Amino acid sequence: MSRTPAVFVGHGSPMNTLEDNRFTRAWSEFALSIERPRAILAISAHWYINATVVTSMSHPRVIHDFYGFPQELADFDYPVEGSPELARRVAEIVDPVWVGLDDETWGIDHGTWSVLAHMYPDADVPVVQLAIDASKPLDYHLDLGARLSSLRDEGVLILGSGNVVHNLRAIAWRSLDQGYDWAERFDHDVATVMTSRPSQLGDVVDSDDYRLAVPTPDHFLPLAYLAGLADHDGVTLQTLVEGCTMGSLSMRSFVAP
Ligand code: ZN
Repeated sequence: MSRTPAVFVGHGSPMNTLEDNRFTRAWSEFALSIERPRAILAISAHWYINATVVTSMSHPRVIHDFYGFPQELADFDYPVEGSPELARRVAEIVDPVWVGLDDETWGIDHGTWSVLAHMYPDADVPVVQLAIDASKPLDYHLDLGARLSSLRDEGVLILGSGNVVHNLRAIAWRSLDQGYDWAERFDHDVATVMTSRPSQLGDVVDSDDYRLAVPTPDHFLPLAYLAGLADHDGVTLQTLVEGCTMGSLSMRSFVAP
């Protein structure tokens, strides 16, 4: 079996679940362009806890972890199966890094399903989520991404879901198609690193732009998994789609071939 591409998706607003725009179309076109994966390992910004854990239930629940959106979104269902087998495989391949198995707490959150609603609308590819361990430094996430890369040889699609720039306090609702100068600049700097020397992702974190673009690391860290696996596999990332919206959100997505 050939190596399955991995992808980082800038997911933006939960409303993208229901929308049809140039970003969501890029996600669905990407899924159509690759061989159908056996399963998906999703690393979502919205499961950010002080532990390294994967979901291991056969039927993960669909989590609606947001407020103030239309009822249609609160009712959105993504009845996908889990994969206890993939969960155990993750724990095995990253050893001696310890990964807990969660068969009751979490499930599939909107960082994952808002994107998969477009990539696999029939919810027919099993999904396991990996929590982002908030207690660990950037290097831990880069290393874990490298360890996970062998799943790409087993037909598993690794999906990181976050945003390069994600500052909700600075959102400008009227600026639909552009970012603040600092947002555009940071987005560009991250793209330069990811597409040329992904192991050096840490280079972007010590700047004023980083502090504005990444007020908390949850949406940024899924990038580290893609950077880690790309470095491990000796490839650089390619931008799938790009653009800032609402001033302080970057929708840029990357693919690791
Ligand atoms: Zn989000």
